[in-house]
Amino acid sequence: MLYLDNSATTQMLPEVKEAMLPYLLEEFGNPSSKYYSYALNAKEAVETARKQVARLLGCDQNEVIFTSGATESNNFILKGVADYYQDQGKHIVLSKAEHPSILETGKYLEHQGFKVTYLDVDSFGRVHLEDLKHVMIQNKPILVSIMWGNNEVGSLNSIKEIAELCQDQDVFFHTDATQVVGKIEVDLSTIPGISFLSCSSHKFHGPKGIGVAIVRKDHLGLPIQITPLLHGGGQESGVRSGTLPVHNIVGMGKASEIAYKHLEDNSKKLIELENKLISVLQSKFGDHLVLNSDSKDKIPGILNVQFKGVNNEVLVRSLSPVVAVSTGSACSSSKPSHVLKAMGLSIDEVRQTIRFSLSPYTILEELNIFDTL
Ligand code: PMP
Repeated sequence: MLYLDNSATTQMLPEVKEAMLPYLLEEFGNPSSKYYSYALNAKEAVETARKQVARLLGCDQNEVIFTSGATESNNFILKGVADYYQDQGKHIVLSKAEHPSILETGKYLEHQGFKVTYLDVDSFGRVHLEDLKHVMIQNKPILVSIMWGNNEVGSLNSIKEIAELCQDQDVFFHTDATQVVGKIEVDLSTIPGISFLSCSSHKFHGPKGIGVAIVRKDHLGLPIQITPLLHGGGQESGVRSGTLPVHNIVGMGKASEIAYKHLEDNSKKLIELENKLISVLQSKFGDHLVLNSDSKDKIPGILNVQFKGVNNEVLVRSLSPVVAVSTGSACSSSKPSHVLKAMGLSIDEVRQTIRFSLSPYTILEELNIFDTL
């Protein structure tokens, strides 16, 4: 089975599994306990992982807050900022192409009395900087949340420019970086305008059920204040309570270490694989193939294509014994894609669309399978 649905999830690397195993068995201590070795070893493992994640993201280790994944991180940041800063304003800006964990949280906040602006996107799913400027001048928001790269079509937003704009206007900026981490450089030390970032380990060959929310420091060097989503024992600097899942954290740390070490090679490999995929698909399907993804400024390895005259559900099902692909995001696969609709595609076009998502560990020659279908 050729697995080409890596934006839904990736296969954990064997090295990650090996790193996790001791923390599922012998080293079972609670890192919040004290003095005895089980606790100290668990605590040390968590702090090593925190450093590994911080290195991958170019931030400080104490800006890393472990969560259960990007859905939680997105909920935490949006609800946490909304709650903490509501006295300063009730306006939040998102884009129409965000992941459901942002859009549904936006809807929830609207019910709580917040005004949420959903920015239009261009024909590749990117936000226009001018639109954002306009909205910010009209009604200064307390938070802007724009994804770094889109999970369905792969387009990258102009994150540096958006972050700069938010910094100039003194507005918090959150970015959902779930699909870009491990595929392109994410170096928060060079983008001070990013106040918060979300990502998830299972998108870059780590375990599921673990991710991070990055909460950056303010101009005084203190963590940006935010209301917790989970209240309790005060773990994770008091903003995310709950006993830490040490095995998962160790796994995310290991996956981060590997992703950091191989970032450049992996990025190149993904571009090479994507080019190969385009060429095999084009030679097989010719004029029936339309690329919905842009050819530049995109996440390498995510390719969104239309097969003219073919129903995507039928195609995905008929490919399923040999190739694993999806019609779009696994999180909203039953509904026609809101991202493609926001990009201006007709319902017919959306229903003919498939997302291929590669991994640096995809074997190039295996893509030739499309010649034989
Ligand atoms: N944001 C984006 C852009 C995603 O692609 C995903 C995963 N589909 C998420 C958030 C949610 O991540 P998780 O599975 O860790 O909750």
